[in-house]
Amino acid sequence: MRGRLRWRPPGAALPGKVGLAALDFPTGTLLFTEAGSKKRASLHLVRGEEALRALDPGGLDVVDSSRADFRAALVRENHTLKRALTDPRLFSGIGNAYSDEILHAARLSPLKLTRNLTDGEIARLHVSTKATLIEWTDRLRREAGDGFPEKVTAFREGMAVHGRFGQPCPVCGAPVQRIVYAENEANYCARCQTGGRLLADRALSRLLREDWPRRLEE
Ligand SMILES: [Zn+2]
Repeated sequence: MRGRLRWRPPGAALPGKVGLAALDFPTGTLLFTEAGSKKRASLHLVRGEEALRALDPGGLDVVDSSRADFRAALVRENHTLKRALTDPRLFSGIGNAYSDEILHAARLSPLKLTRNLTDGEIARLHVSTKATLIEWTDRLRREAGDGFPEKVTAFREGMAVHGRFGQPCPVCGAPVQRIVYAENEANYCARCQTGGRLLADRALSRLLREDWPRRLEE
């Protein structure tokens, strides 16, 4: 989550607390850092394409995918959309942030089950996934220009719902909602994605019981 690669002048020193590794090249030094107390970053050294493939969880790269391949990956298991989109065995490279943005663009609930989707919903989700990934890849490439991407974060100016709890949805103006679970949170717009229904936040609803609003208007 907080592992980063930083490109520095040749021979740059490894920063004390966060530095994990430095790879020296004639034109610069690639620093590998990880902030925070949870150490989860790792660096694998493999020899040959077969060894590399063994590290690939096998998820579909949606940008170049056909509708049929997308549908097959989506309904292989019956999960919530949020979980299916972020499962690297099913789809490649979609994390918490982009799954929120994709589901908002597709106007689908993060808790909808993949096997309950209609053909129309699958088509919409496929188009929205491609469009969101292409749009953000282009944006981040433009931002970095010829340089090395420095400001790596899951929270971006211009996102519709991710990291925007309580702020107005850019489409309809309703406040962005959240569901907190484990160490993650999912953001969505109730008016655009769930027909105004608020999805129960497990932690909060346990705390508030009957005091938990069920509808956006409440
Ligand atoms: Zn909305």
